[in-house]
Amino acid sequence: MVVGDISTGTDVAVIGAGPGGYVAAIRAAQRGLDTTLVERDAYGGTCLNYGCIPSKAFVHGSSLAWEVDHAEELGIHADPAVDMAQMQSWKSDVVDQLTGGVEKLCKANGVNLMPGTAKFTDDTTLRVEHDGDGQGSETLEFERAIVATGSRPIEVPGFSFADEPVVSSRGALAFDTLPDRLVIVGAGYIGMELSTTFAKLGVDVTVVEMLDDVLPAYEEEVRRVIRKRATELGVEFQFGEGASEWRERGDGIVVETETEDGEVSEYPADKVLVAVGREPVTDTLDLDRAGIEPDENGFLQTDSRARTETDHIFAVGDVAGEPMLAHVASKEGIVAAEVAAGEPAALDYQAIPAAVFTDPEIGTVGMTAEEAEAEGFDPVVGEMPFNASGRALTTNHPEGFTKIVADGDTGFVLGGTVVGPEASELIAEIGLAVEMGATLEDLGSTIHTHPTLSETVMEAAENAEEQAIHTLNR
Ligand SMILES: Cc1cc2nc3c(=O)[nH]c(=O)nc-3n(C[C@H](O)[C@H](O)[C@H](O)COP(=O)(O)OP(=O)(O)OC[C@H]3O[C@@H](n4cnc5c(N)ncnc54)[C@H](O)[C@@H]3O)c2cc1C
Repeated sequence: MVVGDISTGTDVAVIGAGPGGYVAAIRAAQRGLDTTLVERDAYGGTCLNYGCIPSKAFVHGSSLAWEVDHAEELGIHADPAVDMAQMQSWKSDVVDQLTGGVEKLCKANGVNLMPGTAKFTDDTTLRVEHDGDGQGSETLEFERAIVATGSRPIEVPGFSFADEPVVSSRGALAFDTLPDRLVIVGAGYIGMELSTTFAKLGVDVTVVEMLDDVLPAYEEEVRRVIRKRATELGVEFQFGEGASEWRERGDGIVVETETEDGEVSEYPADKVLVAVGREPVTDTLDLDRAGIEPDENGFLQTDSRARTETDHIFAVGDVAGEPMLAHVASKEGIVAAEVAAGEPAALDYQAIPAAVFTDPEIGTVGMTAEEAEAEGFDPVVGEMPFNASGRALTTNHPEGFTKIVADGDTGFVLGGTVVGPEASELIAEIGLAVEMGATLEDLGSTIHTHPTLSETVMEAAENAEEQAIHTLNR
């Protein structure tokens, strides 16, 4: 069927159905606005289809296999065989359940779903191209628009994702059979999550990183825990080397790297995963027709109400820059929708949690001690190591620590870092403390269930006040 030149009108047009766009669309519809959500690929965006959810499914599957294979100390002897095709099929069921849920939620909230690829023709009109031969295109007129087109992986020169042995995280998360040897270019959070995942599945993993350590955005004591554990799991690190090219050799490939001094090395592999970062998807939208100019890296600049320079057009999620995280995209989506509905909503980035699902996990929120000092605070820090936690020892995961940073004068909690088991969950309590202005005393005097990992939050707060029972006070 040729749709031809149909023209539709809507109060709010949302471009992209990732965690930024679909959340914005639902909230706009909840506020009584006629809302149209345009998506060119799959509901749920990168997060549900190719990012957060598939990667966490494999983080879990690989950890389960590894735990079962390494439980002799607990008196369990097993020799698990990994069926990658079955793990893929289980992952796809999880993804389908979630993406189907997004579609149902959008429909149930009255969002109009429009499959297709949107481009601006001016600041009140989009052209939506439908996929497939003869499907045509249509015009969508809007009062307000929310750009939520997300990001894509950056290619490095010499490594094209079009070449079969070169994959992005999306390609690696679709492996039906495991490569024997995998070179990962980049030790950021995606490279590190996937390096430990594949190492646990028995893949021989080499990580090549231009800098001199993993996860440059994190404090040294966090990086040390992650680097040590990844090395124990068999991940080999080659720091200070940039990947320059790959070539076929024998029945596999070699990845060539070069140091700043021109020293060349070669690493044999079957696949190479390039995970050096992500760039915004803004170059295909004809934004200039809507009066919007991306910055030099392609990101859209927004104000605290998620508005671009054309103030009835909003930008949320990865297109609006760091931090490029799903929950940030969703929060920005809610703010944009509420502002579009005439409400006084605004963004507050003070208590944004972030998690890295390495082994062990990392959770951070608010300020580090160094950042607090730079902001003019006189910070106090309290820490509780997991090797002093009964619960961590009974799960055989005593690596890492929980750390709380507070204002020395008032006791207000300013931030925290957890590196250890369930850090991604534990950080929520510290996030709530920062958000609601809780003090060390509030955290320390809250009775926590025993034996739990959350006791480490209470103990770290007490440690900062030199009142800890289960650790020596500083
Ligand atoms: C491997 C991996 C693991 C990750 N893990 C985590 C994690 O654990 N936690 C976390 O918080 N974040 C994680 N992220 C990041 C997270 O996926 C992103 O921050 C999040 O998806 C951003 O949401 P978004 O709505 O801005 O964009 P996206 O999710 O990228 O969605 C954008 C959507 O817009 C559509 N689109 C683009 N252009 C057009 C157009 N012109 N017309 C119509 N539709 C269009 C795309 O098809 C896509 O569906 C991970 C990412 C990756 C790659």
